[in-house]
Amino acid sequence: MLGGPGSGKGTQLKRLCSRMGIPGISVGEILRQAIVSDTFLGKKAKPYVEHGELVPDELMIQLMRLRLLQEDTQNGWIMEGYPRTAFQAEELDFVLEDFGQRLDTAIYLQLDEAVMAERSIERSRHDDTLEIIQRRLELFRERTIPVLAYYEPRQKLLRVNGNQPPDAVEAEIRQQLSDFS
Ligand code: AMP
Repeated sequence: MLGGPGSGKGTQLKRLCSRMGIPGISVGEILRQAIVSDTFLGKKAKPYVEHGELVPDELMIQLMRLRLLQEDTQNGWIMEGYPRTAFQAEELDFVLEDFGQRLDTAIYLQLDEAVMAERSIERSRHDDTLEIIQRRLELFRERTIPVLAYYEPRQKLLRVNGNQPPDAVEAEIRQQLSDFS
């Protein structure tokens, strides 16, 4: 599940996973928990997450490899917040190949930037300043938009209108997934 800050990825992840009975992997959530628990990963990731910067690819790739090794991923999974760079997208395919898995579909929640900014401000956590929100949007534009160009020619990309209310977004995702398969 791809999308910018405030695009509703987390909400849609929960809805789809409970409907499909497969685990949801929220990368931002894993990082925030690691920071609270002050683990090795948490210590390394903290300065980046707190400033709205991207955690270095090498660390993220290790983290995802470990997550996908867990038993619950055997019958499928949905992830959100990953991949966030073209390099992560490419590496994810290598990791999946190693594990005898493959990525079927990348769902892109497409929103107007003004809507993303507004939603991010509304739900912002106590340490989210306007400046950090702006930085997240900028990184999304610069680093994550290129991920679309990775999946599109591979015929894996579904574009969904994320400007709508959550029920309508969910319905559109389900419709597109059934047309796709
Ligand atoms: P999120 O909850 O998805 O907005 O993620 C919160 C923060 O975690 C981001 O602002 C980044 O600092 C970090 N993060 C999450 N996913 C990634 C990723 N795929 N690559 C690098 N950093 C990430």
